[in-house]
Amino acid sequence: MQFSEFAFDQRIVNTLAHLNFESPTDIQRQAIPVAMVGRDIMASSKTGSGKTLAYLLPCVQRLLKQKALSKQDARAIVLCPTRELAKQVYGQLRLLIANTSLKSALICGGENFNDQLKTLRKDPQIIIATAGRLHDHLQKRHLFLEGLELLILDEADRMFDLGFSGQLQDIHKAANHRKRQTLMFSATMDNPEVGKFAQQLLKNPVRIAIGFAF
Ligand code: ADP
Ligand code: MG
Repeated sequence: MQFSEFAFDQRIVNTLAHLNFESPTDIQRQAIPVAMVGRDIMASSKTGSGKTLAYLLPCVQRLLKQKALSKQDARAIVLCPTRELAKQVYGQLRLLIANTSLKSALICGGENFNDQLKTLRKDPQIIIATAGRLHDHLQKRHLFLEGLELLILDEADRMFDLGFSGQLQDIHKAANHRKRQTLMFSATMDNPEVGKFAQQLLKNPVRIAIGFAF
C-alpha cells in the first residue's frame, strides 16, 4: 500500500514525497483511515513503528479540510509524557504544516512560562504539549478547550507511569465539546490504568493492537 491511496490534501502528499515516505507502516495503515472517518482510537504498537505519523497525518488532514468548531480555541492537542518526546513530535508536525497556514505551538516544561502565554495568545490551532505544563496553563485560564476537536494522547502508558492521570482527567473534562475525537496511543498494554481511563475518555473506540493480544 502507498500513502497516495489515502485521500490526503496535496500539501501532505508533497511533504511525504519530500521525506521519501512511500508506504505506511502497519499502525499507520490501520489507524489513519479509522481516524479520518472521525472514530476514536485506542492503539498500541511497539516503539519505532511509526505512531507519530499515524496520528499527525489524520490530524493535519482534518484541520486543513474541516471548518473549525470555534474561532479561537485550539483545535488539536497532542499530549506527551516528556519534553524530549514533545519536541520530536513538534519537529514532525512543523514539516507537515510547513506549506499551510496552520499555526502550531510547543508547550512543555522547562521553558519560560510567560513566553508560552504569549504563544498561546496567538491562538495556535495545534498544540504539542507535555501534560503537566498544559495543565498549568489550563488552570491559569491561559487557554480554553471547549472548541477542541482532537485530543491525542501519545505514550499514554508512560503518562500514567509518570503520575499524570489527574492532569489528564482535568484536560479531558475541559475539552468537553460533544464532537471531540480522541486518539490514544501507547507502546505497551501493561498499565491497567490506561484501559480504565480509555473507557472514560473514548467513545466507542476502535482498538488497534499490533503485536499484542487484547
Ligand atoms: P513510534 O512513535 O511508534 O515509536 P515514530 O513515530 O517515532 O515511532 O517513528 C519511528 C521512525 O520511523 C521515525 O524516524 C519516523 O520518521 C520513521 N517513519 C515513520 N513512518 C514511516 C514510514 N511510513 N516510512 C518510513 N519511515 C517512517
Ligand atoms: Mg512515539
